Amino acid sequence: MLKTLFLHPPSFEGFDGGAGSRYQAKREIKSFWYPTWLAQPAAMVPGSKLIDAEPRGLSVEDVAKAAGDYELCIMHTSTPSFPTDVKVAEAIKEANPQLRIGFVGSHVAVDPEGSLNATNSIEFVCGNEFDFTCKELAEGRPLEEIDGLSYRANGRIVHNKPRAIIEDMDSLPHVVDVYKRDLVPEDYFIGYLNHPYLSVYTGRGCKSRCTFCLWPHTVGGHRYRTRSVDHVVSEIAKAKEYFPQVKEFFFDDDTFTDDRPRAEAIARGLGELGVRWSCNAKANVPYETLKVLKDNGLRLFVVGYETGNQQILHNIKKGMRIDWAREFTQNCHKLGIDIHGTFILGLPGETKETIKETIEFAKEMNPRTLQVSLAAAYPGTYLYKQAQENGWLMNEQDRGRLVGEQGIQVSSISYPHLTHDEIFESLGPFYKAFYFRPGKLWQMTSEMVRDYDVMKRRLREGAEFFRFLTAREDRAA
Ligand code: SF4
Repeated sequence: MLKTLFLHPPSFEGFDGGAGSRYQAKREIKSFWYPTWLAQPAAMVPGSKLIDAEPRGLSVEDVAKAAGDYELCIMHTSTPSFPTDVKVAEAIKEANPQLRIGFVGSHVAVDPEGSLNATNSIEFVCGNEFDFTCKELAEGRPLEEIDGLSYRANGRIVHNKPRAIIEDMDSLPHVVDVYKRDLVPEDYFIGYLNHPYLSVYTGRGCKSRCTFCLWPHTVGGHRYRTRSVDHVVSEIAKAKEYFPQVKEFFFDDDTFTDDRPRAEAIARGLGELGVRWSCNAKANVPYETLKVLKDNGLRLFVVGYETGNQQILHNIKKGMRIDWAREFTQNCHKLGIDIHGTFILGLPGETKETIKETIEFAKEMNPRTLQVSLAAAYPGTYLYKQAQENGWLMNEQDRGRLVGEQGIQVSSISYPHLTHDEIFESLGPFYKAFYFRPGKLWQMTSEMVRDYDVMKRRLREGAEFFRFLTAREDRAA
């Protein structure tokens, strides 16, 4: 085995671009997802090391120094961070010229040629489903024998045949062993999850076809391939033992509730373990399933409402209806299941009126917390193709730019009737309209009064959130 480093490199300060992050950007508040997609191959390579630089506060110099001890380095990249990731690759290659460096992630899977042409410091890039590709690389196999790889040979770029999709998801070892070896749960924050939290995937893929969504279009595919109930429950049992301080487990599958009998079976297993857990869900789960999940430790759903306008839901092929979302939300409120609602501004069909409609809808749904993103045209998605064809992407210089100088998300889409500035400037008022209501302020205050740890954290997050809003207003002025 080659001595292998799996690296999520430093980028913009506080940049949540980890291999578990869907909208890679600097957040309103300190936020880091676990680098689960990198931990997975790391779990297959004995003696490897996983470094997640940003949550650990590591600089380019720190990781270049650490990389000096290794023979192979696999770095995770994303479209917003690709330019800075290339600079990190060049710096560590300069520090250790013998090091073999390759990139993984949807960005390089979608554009292997462009990625390899960006710098000679990258020797290869992996396509989707890169777990076993990384394992074979670490075993030192010749590049031409490894499926799912693109690399340079004789002055040209060669693409091997794609890696087969993994059908037996239980063939993937538990990632929590790598978390225990290399990560510190206290480094990972998500505003709506109890701290410290721990997240894993129980499957890959989503059967929905939302036009903007990066993962099913690229890394996961449109079939929900799942690990067995026992494989999942035994991993959580192990994690509970490894990390007694963890207050909540999160299942980051695109839509954990898509396979309801399985979700209920996992819930029953978790109920026996007595853990608190949360997951992503679509707003179409029936009451009976909600009740089983709630009775077995479910605390919170992350729900992608996206918009309050039915026509926009059709436009993005969400396969959802506003009235279903209403019923689901009422049932969650009835059962005491918290919701973190996510919304997107600037999707096709957006107007100033639909933005107002969505703000009113968000207030009516009244999730416990809320997150508003700007429509992002990631290469590899249908939205990117649609935006290119319709001339919705910003000018040539900014084309494909998803974050600004500080790593904060910018609106990359502009319409003749609604400019990217107008979309961007709607974000602050959305947050204010939702949070600056007496009921919400009271809810947050009472949570802080009940729990000193929550108070410390909310005060920090509140200060970060105000800085974020103020920065947006300054930019808009
Ligand atoms: S349901 Fe969620 S995860 Fe699935 S395609 Fe739509 S946005 Fe993506």
